[in-house]
Amino acid sequence: MDAAVMHGPGDVRFEKVPRPTCPEGGFVVKVEAIGLCGSDIRNLTTDSRKGAYPHIYGHEVVGIVDEVAPGVTQYSVGDRIYVYPVAHCLRCEFCRGGHSEQCPNVENYADRPGGFAQYIAYTDKRVERGATFPVPKGVDPVAASLAEPLSSTYACVDNIDVRLGDTVAVLGAGPIGVFLSILCRMRGAKTIILVDVNADRLAKSSGFAIDHRVDSSAVDAVEEVRRLTDGLGVDKVISANPSTVAQQQGLAMAKKTGTVVFFGGVPKGALTEIDSNLVHYSGLWIYGHYGANSMQVQRAFELAIDPSFPASRIVTHVLPLREINRAIELTRTGEALKVVLLPNSEEE
Ligand SMILES: [Zn+2]
Ligand SMILES: [Zn+2]
Repeated sequence: MDAAVMHGPGDVRFEKVPRPTCPEGGFVVKVEAIGLCGSDIRNLTTDSRKGAYPHIYGHEVVGIVDEVAPGVTQYSVGDRIYVYPVAHCLRCEFCRGGHSEQCPNVENYADRPGGFAQYIAYTDKRVERGATFPVPKGVDPVAASLAEPLSSTYACVDNIDVRLGDTVAVLGAGPIGVFLSILCRMRGAKTIILVDVNADRLAKSSGFAIDHRVDSSAVDAVEEVRRLTDGLGVDKVISANPSTVAQQQGLAMAKKTGTVVFFGGVPKGALTEIDSNLVHYSGLWIYGHYGANSMQVQRAFELAIDPSFPASRIVTHVLPLREINRAIELTRTGEALKVVLLPNSEEE
């Protein structure tokens, strides 16, 4: 089969590899659409596997069940499904406490071959735990693939309870920042300010109902956000980018008693210096966000495939898998908002 195989940092080759065999008790999916995620780009361009190559990444999978192991009754050949990459155990303390995103018993999907390939195999554990969702007839697999990147943003605004009348600043105008902005608007936020250092990325968000766009390479983002909010600052700041500077700026642009979310991970080992007196006297809440619980995963999928959700405007490029390196560049430069790859488009 065709696959985009990582041979080292930045060395991704479109080549032939054996089709995965169906694991005992598992199933195989023919990948129709797979999103290229910010984390994929980070993994593909750095030594993410400490020399353990070749490897196939890719986790935003929608496809058709192509093979099922004997005895598997949950799936039938021909079913179109969306597969959330993480299957929570639903038994541990975190899962039972409503925080399955912290489940310590997940099968680490990054250890198994991913979906930048024509076929992907899933184990018996996945059959047992689910976290797969049937894609209704008539729904575009490309739209359905947005359910995965949407899930953590859905969970974030749900957890911090963005509500009617809120002022919100989103730092980072990538697809995640745009998702966050759309969701904040749906929840009734009054003012949404999107901040980025990259003017191209900001321009890509022009089709969405965002009140202000701030190019932080040209102006002081903190001053600008304060100016736009009559000096008060915003109720909620979400830092959705890998920069410690943005986290500092986030604290400085929050309204007294506001909430600052560290949504985006920063490089391993990087430390953010914060003015703890500001946090103390202004009564700020700092909230670290990661992932989505199993219910939020389901809700995010339902939203992604809802006709009211602007999936087709978020996905700016749909490309054959062969063009993965171009897709990486388009995303890195901010020319593309979201790229979805089609591993099986060429044979059809
Ligand atoms: Zn993703
Ligand atoms: Zn668990």
